Amino acid sequence: MKRRNPTIYKALKRRRKSEGITQLALAKEIGCKQSAISMMEAGNLDALSEDKLQKIAEKLGVELDSVTQKSKISLVNKYCPNHDCPSNIPYVVAGDLCFMPKFVNEMAETSSRCEFCGEILQHECSNEECNAIVSGKSSCCNVCGDPYVECHADIVDKVTWADGQRERIEQIRVLIDS
Ligand SMILES: [Zn+2]
Ligand SMILES: [Zn+2]
Repeated sequence: MKRRNPTIYKALKRRRKSEGITQLALAKEIGCKQSAISMMEAGNLDALSEDKLQKIAEKLGVELDSVTQKSKISLVNKYCPNHDCPSNIPYVVAGDLCFMPKFVNEMAETSSRCEFCGEILQHECSNEECNAIVSGKSSCCNVCGDPYVECHADIVDKVTWADGQRERIEQIRVLIDS
């Protein structure tokens, strides 16, 4: 049985943007108000009739009903979003702090927590405009290029912090593995 993916509005929004179509242009083409598109993209799928939703999905090449079906059986890479967590190894590139997450391969639908810090693991890009499913094992999203783990703390000496953190991580991981 097919089931609607409750976050399909994110995929629709993402596709519309990547196609360079404005809400207004899409609304005109489908024959609805721009506000209805806007509401739908904010998560209110009922803002549009089933018929119009289908039209939009067709135009944008998004499968409305099969996504959940697919993600049900597929494994995804999950990461801990906490920059301070030992599961994320920091390094500095061109003056920016980056983190290489320790990915956990799991079913997309099971909600699990980080074995190190207890944070809920994520399997989508942290960029709200993107939210792409994590596919590879790299530090950045392969759709929008944003880093998966972002550091919001104000760290002055990033290199020293990253060095210290890596040392700490090594010690913690040794403890956990033994
Ligand atoms: Zn963690
Ligand atoms: Zn992304």
